[in-house]
Amino acid sequence: MSSVQRVKGSKVRAVRLLAGLLLAALALAACGTESASETVPAERVPAPVTREDDRPLRVVATIGQIADAVRHVGGDRVETHGLMGPGVDPHLYRASESDITRLESADAVFWNGLHLEAGMSGVLERMGDLGVHSIRVTDGIDRTRLLAPPEFEGAYDPHVWFDLDLWSTAVESIRDALIAMDPAGAEVYRANAAAYIAEIAALDKYVRARAQEVEERVRVLVTAHDAFNYFANRYGMQVRGLQGISTESEASTADVQELARFISERGIPAVFIESSVPDQGVQAVIEASAARGHTVAIGGEIFSDAMGAEGTEEGTYLGMIRHNIDTIVEALART
Ligand SMILES: [Zn+2]
Repeated sequence: MSSVQRVKGSKVRAVRLLAGLLLAALALAACGTESASETVPAERVPAPVTREDDRPLRVVATIGQIADAVRHVGGDRVETHGLMGPGVDPHLYRASESDITRLESADAVFWNGLHLEAGMSGVLERMGDLGVHSIRVTDGIDRTRLLAPPEFEGAYDPHVWFDLDLWSTAVESIRDALIAMDPAGAEVYRANAAAYIAEIAALDKYVRARAQEVEERVRVLVTAHDAFNYFANRYGMQVRGLQGISTESEASTADVQELARFISERGIPAVFIESSVPDQGVQAVIEASAARGHTVAIGGEIFSDAMGAEGTEEGTYLGMIRHNIDTIVEALART
């Protein structure tokens, strides 16, 4: 083979490699998954929204935690509709026809974006083409502060609302997007966001202090799925979820046995059920622990990906966080 042919061959390989990389990038964009190795997406600043008769901005939010933040920051200037109510699992949620109609007539949709809304990320991505501002509230978070567990296939852990400091950054992103869409309301949005962030910061201190009430050996949060890694990191707890980061994957018998062994050896007194995940898995862990001679109780129901019923304390973001830490501490500090 002449040297010319060799050069030609390597060029062909380089072109093929580039084409392959491009296809891989397109595939990632199409399924709405942000790979953990990607850099921060370019800041997308929405354009001001033109409205008749000074009507409120029409916003759709996916999970309750985001809807609650938009309501706090938006006040009377924004009409917010939350898609996912109490008990709804965002990992598995698919948009209904009426959701899509509502999305299409909205000015903006606010969503998590870190593969949380796995079943509807395609729909959410497409909203931009229909003139609906599509805002991922996690875009402003420094990527070095996001967790990228290897078992979640290189994507980031989306449950960022459990690190209250990170969630403040999401609230800032919501504020900035509202200001960009409705500049006349800038003062209001700034004041509302500052007040809400101050409340979040106060609760952050409370959670930290309460977590310390539990003896370190049993300061372990065992739940149905791995939603609490940010919570554990920030507040000095260990965390074990039966299912993975997403409820898309199911737990095996081996997973149940392994978790039961861990609980029994540590002498952990309580495990927790989540309002948005069926409790059979946790029940199986309790039975497997009993078979090992260790009695473990259900410490209560906590809120992970969905908030509590509307009109209750747990139906708000601040209320669900307070409920969670109080429930966890009361159950684990009992012994
Ligand atoms: Zn989750």
